[in-house]
Parts: sequence; C-alpha cells; structure tokens
Amino acid sequence: MIKRMPGINLRIPGPTPLPPDVISALTTPMISHRGPEYIALHTETIAMAKQFFQTNNDLFMFTSSGTGTMEAAIVNMLSPGDTILGVSIGLFGDRAIEVAKAYEMNVIELRYPMGQSSDPIEIGKIIREHPEIKAILITHNETSTGVTNDLRSIVAEVNKNAPDKDQPIFLVDAVSSMGNMDIPVDELGLDVVYTSTQKAWMSPPGLALVSVSERAWFSYNFSSCRKYYFDFAKMKKYNDKGQTPETPAVSAIFALNAALKSMTKRGVKETFTYYKDLAAYTRSQLTNNGFVLFGDQSHASNTVSACMIPEGLEDKAFRGHIKKRYNVILSGGGGEMAGKIVRVAHMGWVTRDDIDEVVLAMANTRRDLGK
Ligand SMILES: *Cc1c(COP(=O)(O)O)cnc(C)c1O
Repeated sequence: MIKRMPGINLRIPGPTPLPPDVISALTTPMISHRGPEYIALHTETIAMAKQFFQTNNDLFMFTSSGTGTMEAAIVNMLSPGDTILGVSIGLFGDRAIEVAKAYEMNVIELRYPMGQSSDPIEIGKIIREHPEIKAILITHNETSTGVTNDLRSIVAEVNKNAPDKDQPIFLVDAVSSMGNMDIPVDELGLDVVYTSTQKAWMSPPGLALVSVSERAWFSYNFSSCRKYYFDFAKMKKYNDKGQTPETPAVSAIFALNAALKSMTKRGVKETFTYYKDLAAYTRSQLTNNGFVLFGDQSHASNTVSACMIPEGLEDKAFRGHIKKRYNVILSGGGGEMAGKIVRVAHMGWVTRDDIDEVVLAMANTRRDLGK
C-alpha cells in the first residue's frame, strides 16, 4: 500500500493526508444529488458519523469549511443582544467570539493565556453570577496551542451552577478533535457540535458536520438572526430525506464515506484509543529528542502537539529546512505564538512511522543548523 504522497510528510493540522482508498473514492463518477444512489450515500455517511459523535441528535453535513458551521451554530441558536459566555484558550476560541460579535451578541469574554486550558470552576462561577447567559461558546481542542478544554468537568460545573430550566446551551467547536477524540455528545448534553472533514477525518476539505440537540431546537425557535444557507430547519427537512437543500460536494462525500468505512472497521473506541496512544508517543518522542513541549501537558491534545522552536533558531529557518531537506511540512504558531512554537499534527491518516520521520527530521534539522 502507498503510505502517502511520494516524498511528502504533511503534518499540519489540516488539511491532512488522504489514504489511497479515499483518493480513489474522490474519483467516483458523478451521480445525481436527487437520485437513490445519493440518498443511500448520504444516509450511510451520516449514520457512520453519528457513531463517532456518539449521538442520536440530528447530524447535518454542510458543504462548507468548519468556520461556516461555527457561524451556523451562532445564527441558528441566538439573537442579536443575547448574552453569551465566550471561552477562549487560543485563536479558534477568539474566532468564535468574533463571529458572535459580528452578529451583535453581548459576549462575556473569558480568555486564558495561550497554552492554558480553561478553569471549570471559574466558568461555573460566571454562570452563577450571570443567569442571563444563554449559551456557552467553547473550543474542545484548541488547534493553535495543542491544548484541550475538559468538557466533562465544565458541563458538571455549569449544571451545578445553573437552575435546571435555565441552563445555557453548549456550542462546541470540535473541528480538530471530533472523529479522533472521545467526545460523548449525548452523554455530556452538548447542544451544537461542529467539525470539518480536513482535520481528523482522513478526508479532503469541503464538508462540515454539525450535530443539533433537542434543546438546541428549542433555542432555534427563539433565534431572530437572519439566515438562509445555514438555516438548520431548512437543512433538517432535506436531511430527513437523505438529501441537502442545495447541491452538496458529492465527491467530498464519497471520500468521507470511504474514510468512515475504514474508521468504523477499526472501531469507534479503538479509534479514540489509537489517537490517544499516538499522541502520547509523539510527545514522548519529542521530549526524548530534547524538544520542549508547549502548553499545559495535563490537558494535552490527542490530535496536535506543540513544542518550542529550539533556542537560537528562527522559526522560518527551522521549518524551512525541515521542508526543504526532509520533505516534512509542519505548522508554526499564530498570533502571539508566531515564531515561538512548531506544531505537529497527529490526526487523520497517520502512523508511528510518520511521527518517527517527523521527529527525526526535526532533530536532524536542529543538528544541521548547529543547535
Ligand atoms: C481548523 C479549525 C477551525 C476552522 O476550520 P476551517 O475549516 O478552516 O474553517 C476552527 N476551529 C478549530 C479548532 C480548528 O482547528
């Protein structure tokens, strides 16, 4: 079997590499998006994805990047002037807050320094002090730092601090974790959870998946935001018939379907365990080779790891050399972490061999550059 595109080891946190069966699914001849073949493909794909979301909620497939469903979560659940809590531990948490502000929500911003995870107790306290909070916007896996939020503890604190009938809804960015990490949507009561296929799903960019709970539908009825393409009710009408309202990215769905088949073959729990173990392996290999991990390691991500650029080296020279000399492509940091960290993705189609190659390339580069 071909391991990957000849020579290139793409380890950025999306788009991620595609296995051969997914690439070949992409070349499937086109079908009518209103015919029985499409309905079968759509229905089967959603059913498999629901297993990884661990949900019986509605699950929609939008032709969009992840940010589209971030916006969809906000415009379908809320109204201008609503008070919400925006929890940010990095750049994607910041983005969700920006989207909510663009729709004129009143956002209580709870920001943590990059590399930290949020404090469930502090979130609970804010919920108690602000019973007017209608929703909590939170990132599960902050791709910009390699740190996750502990959703289970946060849900528990929120439930403890909000009267039953007035519990805020949870709008969760799981763009870079759903599919590879264990996020039991129904068990935790997460209302709107979204992800996109170029991250943890071994699939190309183009699709975003979003789950919508019973409680979320209740909120939908009170939302006065304008919407059309991303209207959940319009989507539900078609989704219940195994279709989408507008033309879907059919080729991307063929690809996702193939990827989900191999993920399902491995098993849902087994998949989560695979990435958990691979993440631990990656971090230990980095540490063993003298790299210094970045961020709160008690909340380290199972899909992306960040470490410091070795002392005395410039990010551009370091990553530039890794790419030119070793054909390994890594991401740097963004925002205030620009030039300070390098990020290694271990999501989607990836094995220990790929990680070994990455770490060896990093260690060799440091040596090549005299550090
Ligand atoms: C990549 C990413 C996004 C944005 O997804 P796009 O598909 O690029 O729009 C949002 N949140 C997180 C956590 C991400 O990793």
